[in-house]
Amino acid sequence: MDPERQRLYETCQRLGVGITVMKCFGGGDLLDAKLSPAGAALTVNQCIHYALTRPAVATVLAGAHSAEQFLTSLAYEDAGDAERDYAAAFASFPRIRWQGHCMYCSHCAPCPQKISVADVTKFLHLAEAQKGVPETVREHYALLPHHAGECVQCGVCETRCPFGVDVRANMRKAKEVFGY
Ligand code: SF4
Ligand code: SF4
Repeated sequence: MDPERQRLYETCQRLGVGITVMKCFGGGDLLDAKLSPAGAALTVNQCIHYALTRPAVATVLAGAHSAEQFLTSLAYEDAGDAERDYAAAFASFPRIRWQGHCMYCSHCAPCPQKISVADVTKFLHLAEAQKGVPETVREHYALLPHHAGECVQCGVCETRCPFGVDVRANMRKAKEVFGY
């Protein structure tokens, strides 16, 4: 993601400002392999789910040219995890590389310690974007049922991560930043 845009998302999350996403299909280009800047097509469910899992995003306005398109977007509500999952598609984009970057996709779950790696990593990134840990981020982190300090460094999550994220290092960092 563009670093400036990433900062905007993180600032909104920190201040509790909800973002509404428009054009989550890139005007339709992301659904077409020939037009997609990534060089591969995504599905409607993958586009919506990616947008909804970005920091601070509260809702998506899915444009439609027809009732059929509208119903296809609406079907996201009933789609299962596998249909929404964008991780494998993103990892295999021929023109964009996401290796090493956590996409908050939760593909690494379940963690035997029940840690939500995606949430912990998201809060870690929010904290790292500031000089000190913002109070709102600290509060949100505290509300997680399990924390980075519970990580036993088993590495199972890393075998499932399509983006090659060093999760164990991130858990150690989060423990250091948040204290538990
Ligand atoms: S560590 Fe990997 S699998 Fe887990 S949320 Fe981040 S990108 Fe997804
Ligand atoms: S390395 Fe830590 S976060 Fe990853 S699965 Fe093991 S306990 Fe969970």
